Amino acid sequence: MQYSKIIKEPIEHFSVKPNLHDYHMMYRELNWDKISRDMDWFDSEHINIASVIIDSHLKTDRRDKKALIWENQKGEQEEYTFAELARLSNKFANILVSQLGIRKGDRVFFFLERVPEIYIGIIGTLKAGGVIGPLFSAFGPEAVKDRLIDSRAGVLVTSPALKKKISEIIPELPDLKNIITVQKGKDKADPGDISYEEAMAAASDSFDTVKTKKEDYAIMHYTSGTTGKPKGAVHVHGAVLGHYATAKYVLDLQPQDIYWCTADPGWVTGTSYGMFGPWSNGITQVVYDGAFSAKRWYSFIERRKVTVWYTAPTAIRMLMKAGDDLPGQYNLKSLRYTCSVGEPLNPEAVVWGKKVFDKPFHDNWWQTETGAIMIANYPVQDIKPGSMGRPFPGIRAGVLDDDFNELPHGKEGNLALRPGWPSMFRTYWEKEEMYQSKFKNGWYITGDKAKKDEEGYFWFVSRADDVINTAGHLVGPFEVESVLIEHPAVAEAGVIGKPDPIAMEVVKAFVSLKENCEPSEKLKHDIQKFVMKRLSSAAAPREIEFIASLPKTRSGKIMRRLLKAKELGQPLGDTSTLEED
Ligand code: AMP
Repeated sequence: MQYSKIIKEPIEHFSVKPNLHDYHMMYRELNWDKISRDMDWFDSEHINIASVIIDSHLKTDRRDKKALIWENQKGEQEEYTFAELARLSNKFANILVSQLGIRKGDRVFFFLERVPEIYIGIIGTLKAGGVIGPLFSAFGPEAVKDRLIDSRAGVLVTSPALKKKISEIIPELPDLKNIITVQKGKDKADPGDISYEEAMAAASDSFDTVKTKKEDYAIMHYTSGTTGKPKGAVHVHGAVLGHYATAKYVLDLQPQDIYWCTADPGWVTGTSYGMFGPWSNGITQVVYDGAFSAKRWYSFIERRKVTVWYTAPTAIRMLMKAGDDLPGQYNLKSLRYTCSVGEPLNPEAVVWGKKVFDKPFHDNWWQTETGAIMIANYPVQDIKPGSMGRPFPGIRAGVLDDDFNELPHGKEGNLALRPGWPSMFRTYWEKEEMYQSKFKNGWYITGDKAKKDEEGYFWFVSRADDVINTAGHLVGPFEVESVLIEHPAVAEAGVIGKPDPIAMEVVKAFVSLKENCEPSEKLKHDIQKFVMKRLSSAAAPREIEFIASLPKTRSGKIMRRLLKAKELGQPLGDTSTLEED
């Protein structure tokens, strides 16, 4: 699958200033050993992410520095210093340990809006030695059920509105023992549930953080693959070294910065760079809890005097669509450094950033499994618009052929990394075999296709599998197909990513109907709503095409490759394994 409409050759390079010699030297010397030696919190055996990101600041002058400045669309605001987050997360840890009996390694999942309580709860859970699992609040019941059943989470932290959305699946979760609801002043918690506010009011604010080892599990993020249900990528406490170093050297975070990461905490960017990276560097971060609008975003940057901004290509393309004149109506002079991740960033978007903010976007690449940024246009190097940049110091990336041997530059192949960085995932939760299958010939195979140029810059080509990247969210076609065939009118379904100028790809479904069901526009809407309600709006097919039957292999597997080729008007290639009619 080629994103040729989006990716073009470089337009121009943005050169860095020549006076960055020291910086260059620093990068040249950077490696994981050096980074760990520089950290006063680093202990070769024990690390707890929460201690690093919050409590390590308590004996410094950052103690009363603002850590979190939160505001929502209604204009409500809350602010927390590092000391306040330490105190509140201690209370949450006490609820988990004393009241609910949480022990090291127990899973505590969060299905919560982007409210301060999700940050407090996550820090508290890590202090208690629990493993956090954040779930995107836009998920529907089916998506939440899959993840809670698979992880066997014992505690769910949610809100009354989100609990209502998934109420039908709660009786189907045998391992879920406790639900904590963040009431935000609304009514009482349901009988049997724990009110966050009441429990926090009663809990002690002193807690001895559980002494976790560097390799103890800390974080689980579910990610979609081509086949099967989403799988939980597991990260360890020692990962924070990677979050710390990349936030410092790729996002260029400096003590005085006001940093805005637009990602939701339900996704890996929202934890690695919406909590762990910035706070391990003692940085003030601002959070906006509201729907996207170009005006609201610009006004937020102006009001909060954001200096470093980490966002995503779809958002940038939506801002571009809102017009070049709009940014001029706001004072955005505070911005000094802008970055992007999640999908290929088209060169036009990089150039546009330079034009309207006088700051080109620095694209970088990583994924749920890598836990932290791996390839980046970091501050000391020229930006090649359209390229993801170069591997972070200490990371070795390569492009491999299908026998997993390294290819020379200029050749397209499988993007792979040499294992061994701190934030690398340690397994797929209870799917060790699938985890092992990602390693070939001494490399971790990322599932992306890329090429490298002679200066060592990497260029994204496509996914190597059928996973759909819509607005930076990975959607597994199998997950959508499984829900589609539960619709009473659907006999079979095949799902592909259709190129889209804004979201990069949107979900398109080819559907064959059961006998006596007639195709109609109304039925299309009904099917779309069906998927949206169960999975999420991102996973709901933007387009549905009714076809008589789906192309299949002899063993009955739907050939998405052919559906894709048909959609793009490309040659169908080898059809020898097609179903015989
Ligand atoms: P996720 O695991 O949900 O964070 O998604 C990771 C995937 O998003 C990668 O494997 C890529 O396919 C895609 N991706 C992330 N960053 C970039 C980027 N800078 N350029 C191109 N694709 C990206």
